[in-house]
Amino acid sequence: MSTESDTPLLDELEKGPFPSFVSEIKKAAAKNKMALDELKQLEKSYRDKRGYWKHGGIVGIRGYGSGIIGRHSSLPQEFPGVADFHTVRVNSVSGFFYTSDSLRQICDIWDRHGSGLLNMHGSTGDIILLGTSTEKLEPVFAEFSSRGWDLGGSGSSLRTPSCCIGPARCEWANIDTLDIIYNLTQEFQDEMHRPAFPYKFKIKAAGCAVDCIGAIARADCSIIGTWRGHIVVDQSAVAEYAKQGMDIQAEIVNLCPTGCMVYDGRELYINDEDCSRCMHCISRMTKALRPAGEKGATILIGSKAPFVIGATLSWVLVPFMKLEPPYDEFKALLKKIWEYWDEHGKNRERLGELVIRRGMREFLEFVGVKPSPQQVKEPRRDPFFYWKDEDFRRQ
Ligand code: SF4
Ligand code: SF4
Repeated sequence: MSTESDTPLLDELEKGPFPSFVSEIKKAAAKNKMALDELKQLEKSYRDKRGYWKHGGIVGIRGYGSGIIGRHSSLPQEFPGVADFHTVRVNSVSGFFYTSDSLRQICDIWDRHGSGLLNMHGSTGDIILLGTSTEKLEPVFAEFSSRGWDLGGSGSSLRTPSCCIGPARCEWANIDTLDIIYNLTQEFQDEMHRPAFPYKFKIKAAGCAVDCIGAIARADCSIIGTWRGHIVVDQSAVAEYAKQGMDIQAEIVNLCPTGCMVYDGRELYINDEDCSRCMHCISRMTKALRPAGEKGATILIGSKAPFVIGATLSWVLVPFMKLEPPYDEFKALLKKIWEYWDEHGKNRERLGELVIRRGMREFLEFVGVKPSPQQVKEPRRDPFFYWKDEDFRRQ
């Protein structure tokens, strides 16, 4: 098979200092007809300024309603290698830990049955295997499942839950993100593999508010590790940071979002009552500051970029929840959230859109979470709560 292809437009994308997906497709095209036709069709798309993929159709693995995304070329005669070019989503490992053996295993299976092209990881967190034919789907799945792998979520289902590396390597983890995500993945297999929701639902867990997994901007339900206590300050380490040239006033105190820090030129003071546990100061002065007290998580809901109304960040639902195995309190809350969404959600309406449409008050009443100041997104301009007459009578 020739590695030569007439791709002048794609070749442009190989120039410059950055790694290029075109170079990777070319490498795969040297030994795989699907990848070669994928390359040629892409060049044609660039030349004609239009796409030649058709999505959808009912393709899948027996017994599963998700995990496969059907894709077909609209030019199958011209590019027979990509007449079918389905995506297979494989459930990733919590924290994205792989041995080199397991990575080799994934690549070997995919070289045997697919285009050899893959993407680690998709924005949901799955291993994304790009391009195989309809008749190869069952053999691909048989090989993966016989080695202990399973499909991820797709369509209107719970998407593969994912998390930051957490306590495995990070000293800031307030919760065991790896165990939480593994446990939720096992518990909610049905919700992942048999789509029954109005639309997709993503759960992501970060060990602290640094949020390395990007949960707050992407997940319908974010679990963010936090603490209920104070920040321990090591004043000698603070002095050392100053000595090393850190402008503590400008870089730390002035950037504290709640304005709860004071630096007198020698020592740093924190009014813990006003601290929102944003992690800014701790992540900048790792040797001087450390959270202390009870550990748990803040549960947030609702993000997605973009909704019909534009990009939306998560907002707080439960300010603090203890999260210990088997995570019953969180699972019970999740089931109530899904029940509400099932009851009121329109087709292809994400949870956040639904809550914005119908109001936080009704949602809180349904899921049984008490209102709290932390849930108020924009004080005064956009309060979620409206007082009833009986609230005043109770005073
Ligand atoms: Fe560490 Fe926090 Fe990042 Fe998780 S989100 S890896 S706990 S800094
Ligand atoms: Fe301020 Fe954030 Fe540090 Fe709390 S964690 S003191 S809010 S910078």
